[in-house]
Amino acid sequence: MKKLMMSISSAITLAVTHPAAIRAQQFFDHVCPSFWWTGMKWSRVQILFHAEENLQLAQVSTRYPGVKILQVHHVENPHYLFVDLQIEPDAKPGDIPLLFKITERRHLVYPYHLYPRNPDDGKTRALGVNSRDFIYLLMPDRFANGDTLNDRVAGMLDQSLNRDSLTARHGGDLQGVIDHLDYLKDLGVTAIWMTPVLENNEAHASYHGYAFTDHYRVDPRLGTNALYKKLVEQAHQMGLKVIQDIVLNHVGEQHWFVRDLPMKDWLHQWPRYTNTSYRESPLFDPYASSSDKKQMSDGWFTPFMPDLNQRNPYLANYLIQNAIWWVEYAGVDAFRIDTYIYCDLNFMNQFNAALLREFPHLHLFGETWVHGVLPQAYFVRNKLNMPFQSNLPGVCDFQWCFAVQHAFTEKNGWTSGIVEPYLTLAQDFVYQDPMKNVIFLDNHDMSRIYSVVGQDIRKFESAFTLLLTSRGIPQMYYGDEILMKGISAPDGLVRKDFPGGWPGDTVNKFSDAGRTETENIAFHFIQNLAHFRQQSEALREGKLMQYVPEGNVYVYFRYTAHESIMVAINGNDDTVSVSTNRFAESLHGYKKAFDVLHHQMIEDISRFHLPPYGSLVWQLKP
Ligand code: CA
Repeated sequence: MKKLMMSISSAITLAVTHPAAIRAQQFFDHVCPSFWWTGMKWSRVQILFHAEENLQLAQVSTRYPGVKILQVHHVENPHYLFVDLQIEPDAKPGDIPLLFKITERRHLVYPYHLYPRNPDDGKTRALGVNSRDFIYLLMPDRFANGDTLNDRVAGMLDQSLNRDSLTARHGGDLQGVIDHLDYLKDLGVTAIWMTPVLENNEAHASYHGYAFTDHYRVDPRLGTNALYKKLVEQAHQMGLKVIQDIVLNHVGEQHWFVRDLPMKDWLHQWPRYTNTSYRESPLFDPYASSSDKKQMSDGWFTPFMPDLNQRNPYLANYLIQNAIWWVEYAGVDAFRIDTYIYCDLNFMNQFNAALLREFPHLHLFGETWVHGVLPQAYFVRNKLNMPFQSNLPGVCDFQWCFAVQHAFTEKNGWTSGIVEPYLTLAQDFVYQDPMKNVIFLDNHDMSRIYSVVGQDIRKFESAFTLLLTSRGIPQMYYGDEILMKGISAPDGLVRKDFPGGWPGDTVNKFSDAGRTETENIAFHFIQNLAHFRQQSEALREGKLMQYVPEGNVYVYFRYTAHESIMVAINGNDDTVSVSTNRFAESLHGYKKAFDVLHHQMIEDISRFHLPPYGSLVWQLKP
């Protein structure tokens, strides 16, 4: 996408108009955004032009109906020009001939292309993700290799390719995901979140994707921009949504704009290297020092990931336009925003507002790896009367995750063990809309849930019962359905290849036949509940009523006017028998139940029995 082809007709016209014009695509090595659209709300576009030449004296002009140049910015680095274009509502799609007068004697014309905006935004694409969905998080390099020709790409810095290494490239790609969309559909997920797919041309450990080196290009080891767009389209045709993972806080040290910075304050520069403290408290602490606050937000996430200064207005435009570009180009349905809490929060509000104004259905949720409901709530739309108010719709609900993990790993006490999910949800009063939070049992940075619960299949199942029946948007991590194990020390141990995803794999766990009996139990447990959830209004969007856990048994109901689901989790290492008298308020009018986990009718709901750490899901019947 770096160098756009000039259409033949416009090239001829321009060549005639400006005999001195040369092929401008060869002159500029980066034009961002590489093209734009008519009919966008973001109609004042700031285009970055970069060349290995001095642009200090350059002037830019154009004649195109409905388009005018508002301003041309010369910045510290003479290799850059920022050109502000106003695209009026009556502008037609086509090539805008931008005439660059580089020097008195050197002129060239760059045809900047305008496409028509997709009329299906919000209807068949850019749909948003909500509590009716079930998200599957996967890492493309480690999920499936659908194209072995792109495993190693000549010219890229990381030439590793070794499936036995935790940090090397393994060869998985977008085609591998496309090839398994039917598998995901069959499992019962409705949305795919891939860890970032943009170019990471770093020398080492480039597989994880969180160190962008080009914001407008899918990493060639994963595929092409066109293939990414095709993946989204095919997923949509199958009723699956796609979430794009974006990073606004930092980039890779090999990013082309880091190698030749537009201006010094494009990045957070420190006299000597300063890491972020990873401590978010100073951001809201009434007693915080300014230096602590600055270190949290402006310190670097790692020495290899330069920290972006989003208070720089050129960079702010760059990031916002890039995100809008990807939604309009590929039609993705949501953004998961990496390292959200390390970004400049005023910029993030500006970013969120711009994206939601352009795509009102889009969902945005941020990574908020903090400890405590209050710290987490600070970063999302909340009911706290604080000087700073976030407009972020949802978060990755780490507090819910920790609580559920503790339910099966901590000793039961007044505030610990099975009571933790209950206590955590009781604090939902701080959120504007907790249903927009993404809940999960693990992710690519955390130990896998099966290992967390000590490889206890019943605890594993009950954790998934909580995931698929609680409030919010459930998200699972690839391979959990086949009981993949791993403690996240280091990360690579929880990012192993999905067996069967590579040509020549000796086992294929994408099929029943390739899975062990226990793995099939796990797979079908998730599949059953996920499919039930798809047609259960109460689980998808119902209200929640929960009861104070007694005897270490946690009981709650999800309900609408038409359906009521009862869920019970046994937090004891013993079998329990529980009278349902205490839940009369929720059971009023019901006599029987459909046992969702065992597919049988329960004729008497006055009492239930649960094995150690077992769970039940009852669809109540009159
Ligand atoms: Ca490949």
